[in-house]
Amino acid sequence: MKALVTGGAGFIGSTLVDRLLAEGHAVDVVDNLSSGSLTNLADARGDRSNDLTIHQIDIRDTTVAELIERRRPEVVFHLAAQIDVRVSVANPVLDAEINVLGSINVLEGARRAGTRKVVFASSGGTIYGEPDPADLPVKESHPQRPISPYGVAKKVVADYLHAYRELYQLEYTALALANVYGPRQDPHGEAGVVAIFAGRLLANESCTVFGEGDQTRDYVYVDDVVDAFVRAADRGTGLVINIGTGRETSVNQLYATMARASGVDLPTVQAPPRPGELARCALDNGRAELHLDWRPWTDLPTGAAAVLEHFRAENPV
Ligand code: NAD
Repeated sequence: MKALVTGGAGFIGSTLVDRLLAEGHAVDVVDNLSSGSLTNLADARGDRSNDLTIHQIDIRDTTVAELIERRRPEVVFHLAAQIDVRVSVANPVLDAEINVLGSINVLEGARRAGTRKVVFASSGGTIYGEPDPADLPVKESHPQRPISPYGVAKKVVADYLHAYRELYQLEYTALALANVYGPRQDPHGEAGVVAIFAGRLLANESCTVFGEGDQTRDYVYVDDVVDAFVRAADRGTGLVINIGTGRETSVNQLYATMARASGVDLPTVQAPPRPGELARCALDNGRAELHLDWRPWTDLPTGAAAVLEHFRAENPV
């Protein structure tokens, strides 16, 4: 297969690129390296048997459509995005330029290239808004009422995907991802609490917990997520599909798991709760099981240990 991965130098994207290359596929990466890095692709670039081409270009640039048309990928994995919810609130125009208009440029390229399918990285933590606790784990049939510009953009791109399918028979699957964690996640952003805790624990620094620490998230390991992307290249067409574990883990539970795995025994520092933060989240993964034959296989202690090992290797003492 000839694949094109937007955001392929990022955390999830580069892990997907590694997997596609390992399976012998030819891969084009489209990335402006704004939050991603070529370091994430160092192994992939180092192996000369890999068929990998990297295009440093911004998806807001309309010539990205020409690039995709020229490269003629069979499948486009669209992961490039402005990923910070708080940035989207502070600067909704910027968020829409990248996450909506940039996505349309990618879709235009896919249409013109005769691409068979687009697999899109949507966000299960934001498209459903603030679900009632009784609705957890949340199903795809839940109303989509996002409460951040980031969530609105993720929802609307799935609407564009549907329209392109109707208009041009361009197949799609939108994967509504839970909180993805794993090696290569940026510890400096706000999304990656696992990476933030890992960095601080290994530096023997205390970790900050906002509010009581009882807010929950659905933490899903990056290799499991990448497996869902690969499966979606051939299945689950025309659907939004949740990719999560279905399990809620509180920040306090996460910290306890990671502190145990790192052998550090420091109390957390409490900070005031962050306004607007979602109280609870977990995604039902029944549809993924049914349509992708996918289920997560990495439990949190195993995944957390892999993240800590990655950080240790990156920052030897
Ligand atoms: P990331 O920041 O590591 O990856 C995003 C990549 O897109 C980076 O390599 C960045 O350089 C690139 N990019 C950003 N703006 C661009 C632009 N204008 N033009 C070209 N490239 C651009 O983040 P990630 O966690 O790997 O996220 C990948 C995708 O998954 C995103 O679409 C994100 O919204 C989605 N997602 C992630 C999570 C999560 O928990 N990490 C959860 C839900 C959805």
